[in-house]
Amino acid sequence: MSLGLYVHVPYCRRVCPYCDFFVVPIGRRGARTDVLASRGTATPPPGVHDFVDALIREIELVGDRAATLSTIHFGGGTPSTLSPDELERIVAAIRDHFEVAPGAEVTLEANPEDLSTEYAQALVGLGVNRLTLGIQSLDDEALRVLGRKHRRSHALAALDAARAGGLANLCVDLIFGVPGQSTASWHETVSRVLDTRPEHVSAYELTIEEGTELARRRGSGQLRPLRPSALHRLFVTTDELLCAAGYEHYEVSNYAREERFRSRHNLAYWRHSPYLGIGPAAHSFDGSMRWWNHRALEPWLAALGEGRKPIAEREVLSPVELRREEILLGLRCADGFPREPGGSAERPPLPADALADAIGRWQLVIDGDRIKPTLQGMLIADELARQLCP
Ligand code: SF4
Repeated sequence: MSLGLYVHVPYCRRVCPYCDFFVVPIGRRGARTDVLASRGTATPPPGVHDFVDALIREIELVGDRAATLSTIHFGGGTPSTLSPDELERIVAAIRDHFEVAPGAEVTLEANPEDLSTEYAQALVGLGVNRLTLGIQSLDDEALRVLGRKHRRSHALAALDAARAGGLANLCVDLIFGVPGQSTASWHETVSRVLDTRPEHVSAYELTIEEGTELARRRGSGQLRPLRPSALHRLFVTTDELLCAAGYEHYEVSNYAREERFRSRHNLAYWRHSPYLGIGPAAHSFDGSMRWWNHRALEPWLAALGEGRKPIAEREVLSPVELRREEILLGLRCADGFPREPGGSAERPPLPADALADAIGRWQLVIDGDRIKPTLQGMLIADELARQLCP
């Protein structure tokens, strides 16, 4: 069985005011600056060492030599807060308890402030062959609003360091729709990033989730979100700049310089392939059932300390729910979704009127046995899903 493995590393140097992931601010647990200064040689602060030990226990519990990992993705949080020694222990445990396919995609998410040439070299030595760099913007004012630690100069230096360290497959993560952001500023960020010819660019629209610091500032009138027309302009600008530079827009937020540089790990999510998630808050899926780990360090650590899998909840998806997800995910991808729901009589057909309407409005096209969104369709994927899903 081919499987994608997701490893959630919850630590971040600070919590960004828009973030609603499960993260643990590392600063509060003891300064990690010592580790930054001498990677891999300093004593880890309390917490991180326990985390790595527990993660290895989880790998031992869920490991399956019959499963072949086609992708391994270190996400978070900020996996680059881990030292090369810590990452090496985790990678060794994965290799001890799973088969890893030759040529497997091994990705690590990093923040610019962590990237040095030496760190990049160490990652390459551990088998990391794809780096996702959380640059977000090259406009220092946008970075300040996003509460990021790095600035433009750090981001550009990190890109140079990643290349100098031997990382040949780089993904740059960007965020648009930052309050106060102009089209000209975004145009400059994307253009400057394209000068560095990354293999992949992810450009996400900023979403201000309830419960975050930015939502609080919006509520008190301190922060004015961009209007929908401005967001639309930024999305179209992104598409135009990247497509003109030869990138394919293969998912609503993702662009690859060549098809082989698409994120294989994320494609597996979008295609409903099985994946296994380890670490706090990580999700797993086996084709019909989804389960997820405790979304806090303490119960996750406690379960593993008792030799139990740290699963918080499970849900079994009905054929109708699976089809709904297939459509929703497909509407965000240029490859779309299959017209027929895998021949299962239990899965209802698409409503013909809604489908014809969307095709008439040039939001969807039929291409052989698949239904694909146009750029307009991708933009309103959620709305189309509501119309097409039973
Ligand atoms: S670095 Fe990423 S994961 Fe960490 S707090 Fe910021 S947005 Fe969240």
